[in-house]
Amino acid sequence: MGKSRKLSFYFHIPFCLSKCYYCDFNSYAGLNWLIPQYVDTLEKEMQLHAKDVWEFEVKTIYFGGGTPSLLPAKSIAYMLESCSKLFNMPSNLEVTLEANPGTVDQSFLTQLKESGVNRLSLGVQSFSDNELKLLGRIHSANEAREAFFMARQAGFENINMDLLYALPQQAVSDWRNNLVEAIKLNPDHFSLYPLTLEPSTPLANAVASGSLPKPDADLAADMYLLALDKLAQEGYSHYEISNWALPGKECQHNMTYWKNEPYLGLGAGAHSHLGGYRWVNVSSPVEYVKHLASLKTKLSPRPYFNNRWVDNIENIDRDLEIAEAVILSLRLEEGVNLTDFAHRFGVELYSIYQQQQINELVELGLIAKNQHSIRLTTKGKLLGNEVFSRFLPKSRG
Ligand code: SF4
Repeated sequence: MGKSRKLSFYFHIPFCLSKCYYCDFNSYAGLNWLIPQYVDTLEKEMQLHAKDVWEFEVKTIYFGGGTPSLLPAKSIAYMLESCSKLFNMPSNLEVTLEANPGTVDQSFLTQLKESGVNRLSLGVQSFSDNELKLLGRIHSANEAREAFFMARQAGFENINMDLLYALPQQAVSDWRNNLVEAIKLNPDHFSLYPLTLEPSTPLANAVASGSLPKPDADLAADMYLLALDKLAQEGYSHYEISNWALPGKECQHNMTYWKNEPYLGLGAGAHSHLGGYRWVNVSSPVEYVKHLASLKTKLSPRPYFNNRWVDNIENIDRDLEIAEAVILSLRLEEGVNLTDFAHRFGVELYSIYQQQQINELVELGLIAKNQHSIRLTTKGKLLGNEVFSRFLPKSRG
């Protein structure tokens, strides 16, 4: 058997200098003292999985957070070296690291590039200092620009920029200005997300108490349409609902998720999807380190069963796998390819979802279909959840 099966690796780095006002990610301020032990524990978790995934080739590696750029560059280099020793890792794979512009300097970025990281995802969020303050970000707009220039100087030829829109008090003209400023830097990729008010975050509380206005859904739609228009003019292809790329710069790691392919998540709160199972590690970094420290490194296959560093494990039945594959593919511009679907699942899409059900969505203007594929229309992208819910298995719909 050849080593053609591919597996993406995600490393969760849950440390932040302070908590942004909108954030409910699994990230913690004030825990930096744990970083050295945490890195050693990630290495140990890699060892525990090595036997189980020996037949896979590493497809992509992604350091997400949290703030992975808080780690010393030598720790990233150490993890990549361990990865190449333990797994079948080709030399030209995509290796992404999320960086907060308030935490990087030239020397760090240069070392990072030398360590093998070849894609940087910069959490810029806005080019307005007022908006950055409202969000509780630790950096200014100018620091974001400087981080971008330093990354180019360090040799990064693949840089993503994250921006948020639909902020409280943000007008369409403010958003246009953010887009114009971002485009001037000519990043290779954009991820644009509307702000979601997560319960109990300071920003959600401020909106609930009336000290900030509620973001307006119609304005959010206008901002999305503006981004579609402007980025198309600048040559970015809109390949996923929230993602745009210059030719050849689509994020291969995220394609793993959207194509419902296997991935292994390491670190506190990291999610994995492999071998018909999905599991999530304990979210507390302290607990994660503690549970793994007490384990012997030699474990049987499927080390995620019956071990206390794993919080939840779920068997993915066929109905759910099919529904997830359809929903995730619909996020992509190319949509669901009917031939690929039949090849993967051994049945036609229309034998699972009735023509009538699909035609209804076509009549509502939410999806477009032809003999090769079904995909979201622009209206469908704005009302994605409405469409996705129709593809869930009956028991979960
Ligand atoms: S830097 Fe990212 S992960 Fe950290 S608090 Fe801010 S939004 Fe959350």
